[in-house]
Amino acid sequence: MKNKNFSPESLAISGGYDPSTANNSIKTPIYQTSTFKFNTAEEGKAFFENAKGDAPLEERNASLIYTRLNHPNAITAEYRLSQLDGAEDAAFFESGMAAISTAILAFCHAGDLIVMSSPLYGGTDTFIKKHAVQFGIEWAEFEPGATQEDIEQLISSYPKSNRLKMIYLETPANPTLSLVDIEMIAKVRNKLAPQAIVAVDNTYMGPIFQKPLAHGADLNLYSATKYIGGHSDIIAGAASGSDQVIKEIKKKRAILGNTASPFTSWLLSRSMETISLRMEKQAHNAQKLAEFLNDHAQVKATHYLGLMEDTDPYFPLFKKQNNSGGAMIAFEVHGGEAEAFKFLNALQLAHLAISLGSTETLVSHPFTMSSSNMDEKDRLKNGITPALIRVSVGIENIEDLIKDFDQALNSVK
Ligand SMILES: *Cc1c(COP(=O)(O)O)cnc(C)c1O
Repeated sequence: MKNKNFSPESLAISGGYDPSTANNSIKTPIYQTSTFKFNTAEEGKAFFENAKGDAPLEERNASLIYTRLNHPNAITAEYRLSQLDGAEDAAFFESGMAAISTAILAFCHAGDLIVMSSPLYGGTDTFIKKHAVQFGIEWAEFEPGATQEDIEQLISSYPKSNRLKMIYLETPANPTLSLVDIEMIAKVRNKLAPQAIVAVDNTYMGPIFQKPLAHGADLNLYSATKYIGGHSDIIAGAASGSDQVIKEIKKKRAILGNTASPFTSWLLSRSMETISLRMEKQAHNAQKLAEFLNDHAQVKATHYLGLMEDTDPYFPLFKKQNNSGGAMIAFEVHGGEAEAFKFLNALQLAHLAISLGSTETLVSHPFTMSSSNMDEKDRLKNGITPALIRVSVGIENIEDLIKDFDQALNSVK
């Protein structure tokens, strides 16, 4: 783009790609190549020096060597996500778990400590507790609702608190939607562990409804399979943050070899053009559906951030951190698993599937599906009961969605 003096919103649509490099094609071609030709041996040498050294980001991006390291489709996607997140750079991966595990391994080494919120996404919880520990990385977690004092105490009580390298948060948490104050966590880090990275899994709100970097986080992590991809047709992950932080992550990505492919990156670039349209419509539908569920006789409880009363102690945090209630709802039917299954099996428009953030509405049963590997005690403690249903609201006609949920709820009686 000739003039970069435009808003991030516009740059996320057509930035990160110059049509004059590809026959003036309006859309980015898919660079389906594994390697890039050097014009001279001297250029090859310079590109390698740029790639591993401290060359500015633009020069590193222009030094194309080999697709595992970097490629034009990833660069376009990374530029667009950086715009959406208010970040200096971003990195895309072949899955959300690839982004999360690579970021953890980039900053945490044997003997280091991760302090994390709970509950975490099941894959992340398993990676930290069962796999990162194989590399000698230790962990400690705090409960939903933990105060600044509780968290400071947890860190200070650790015999090796100077080895704290990452505070890892998920807010809102899945599927219970509990919130963690990112700004408070950044303060705790500044006070007790200035060497630690504050990382936020921002999958649930996506880059449109929550900007963790603006609240003092250093690193956003995503399952880009969800809202960023937005169409249930790719598995991908992302990280965004300062040039310095993302450079460390890209070094690890190059060696672990989980860079997003040209086609995945191309789909992501295309998806980011419509992300605000999709998410606003999804959140609009979610608000209407949550209000309907909240009033329904067959529904015992509805959890949706957009329903939070202004008297709720978390209301000021919600208003500070999120500019929408998002598009994830969890609700309990009266009864237990049998009633929940009856509801799920009766749906006609919404699809029974895990995952979230897509154009179609997806409905699932966390107790027996996405959270089933958690101890039953932990599931119940986190409000993941056999009667709980999770809904990722899509962009369908809202009257149709309400009609579908109404008939499925009424079939439970
Ligand atoms: C789906 C998800 C992940 C994992 O992402 P994948 O793309 O499936 O690897 C991580 N965190 C959250 C909150 C998720 O919903």
